[in-house]
Amino acid sequence: MALTKISKKTKAKNATTAPAKGNENHLGMNAIHPLEATPHAAKESLNPFEAMIRRLDQAAKLMKLDNDVYQIVKTPSKVVEVSLPIKMDDGSIKVYEGYRVIHSTALGPSKGGIRYHPQVDEHEVKALAAWMAFKCAIADIPYGGAKGGITCDPKSMSVGELERLTRAYTAAMSDIFGVDKDIPAPDVNTSGREMAWIVDEYSKITGGFTPGVVTGKPLHLGGSQGRVEATGRGVCTAALEAIAKLKMNPKKMKAAVQGFGNVGSITAKHFELNGIKVVGISDHTGAFYNPKGINIQEAIQYCAKNKGVLKGFKGATSIKPEALLELDVDLLAPCALENQITAENAGRIKAKLIVEGANGPTSAGADDILNKKGVIIIPDILANGGGVTVSYFEWVQNRTGYYYSEEEINKRADRWMKQAFTNVWNVAQKQKTSMRIGAYIFALGKVATAIRSRGSY
Ligand code: GLU
Repeated sequence: MALTKISKKTKAKNATTAPAKGNENHLGMNAIHPLEATPHAAKESLNPFEAMIRRLDQAAKLMKLDNDVYQIVKTPSKVVEVSLPIKMDDGSIKVYEGYRVIHSTALGPSKGGIRYHPQVDEHEVKALAAWMAFKCAIADIPYGGAKGGITCDPKSMSVGELERLTRAYTAAMSDIFGVDKDIPAPDVNTSGREMAWIVDEYSKITGGFTPGVVTGKPLHLGGSQGRVEATGRGVCTAALEAIAKLKMNPKKMKAAVQGFGNVGSITAKHFELNGIKVVGISDHTGAFYNPKGINIQEAIQYCAKNKGVLKGFKGATSIKPEALLELDVDLLAPCALENQITAENAGRIKAKLIVEGANGPTSAGADDILNKKGVIIIPDILANGGGVTVSYFEWVQNRTGYYYSEEEINKRADRWMKQAFTNVWNVAQKQKTSMRIGAYIFALGKVATAIRSRGSY
């Protein structure tokens, strides 16, 4: 497989690993494998891609993956960086940086969302693209992995500016995207609205209506029933699977959810529907705590009428944002951005179970501390795979032209998630390692097998 690089780039350095003593958690799993710990100072300064590689290296060593194929699995196959000049509403011109990283196409066309955020850079998009490749392998859908992003502050831009930016990005990436090549979807700060603009711009450029080039579209443009709720719903299903394995009772559990966008709000909603008391919620405008349980439907309705934010919510007491993660709860769902749980705050986390709705919310240093404390973490590449699973169903529906009911989609998505959970759980048990390393081992094995059998090297 040829590796194409279309941009200025820095090379990812692999962190060194140092042995540490293992200790058993209450699952009887070796909470820290000797290969899974490094000195904290070194690892917390890693960029997101390096931090991802550090944990991937641990998995590759543990499963004794041969180095030749591992070099291919861990290296992004294409990195595209574009400059996007946009006319702003005041007549001035601003140039934005846009990225698309194709990590792998070993298992199928590459798949992954597009995010709009000031923090977007090449390292972040590279990490997110790799996670997509592993997430699709774990979800057992026939895709490789990719991610896109534009460094911008969408909250300070008008709808017109966002539309021009989205169309410029689509035009710049029109030779990268394709129904059988690379299929974007929503991610942080993008939604069905942006996907509709992409379908329109891409269809104009390529000359033919092509809804299957993106997923997460509005229903009237070939979107799938159940896609909007799919990620949060899947996060809850993964949490319930873990709760059953740990023999906990959801009806006696308290949860905190960080982030109240699509993933956080729907995760909280499904926790509540399953009898888990959600006592803490937060977004970038505020954090809220109610020991009696927050009425999530009320919070969702409040946000809808309040420009999509929780600021001013009266159904709970306002607390410091950093206190949310440290609340006295059984279950914690970080559903915002990367690196929220770090070596600095991991020691103060009280939850016994963490289910990662966001991509990369737990740093490598925090993993070591939490593993040592016996906290079970259901990793992002497993827990939030419900979104891309229903994206796959959407793509299949677009290709066949036959559309399923919401009930049918949800039933299939639940089945897929339960199977993925069981697969990862079994690997983690067998290798006596954490669910994160177990997930990487499962994914690496699958992608490596595809690379070997295709033999393009
Ligand atoms: N952005 C979502 C994720 O990180 C969905 C990706 C997709 O549906 O392609 O999983």
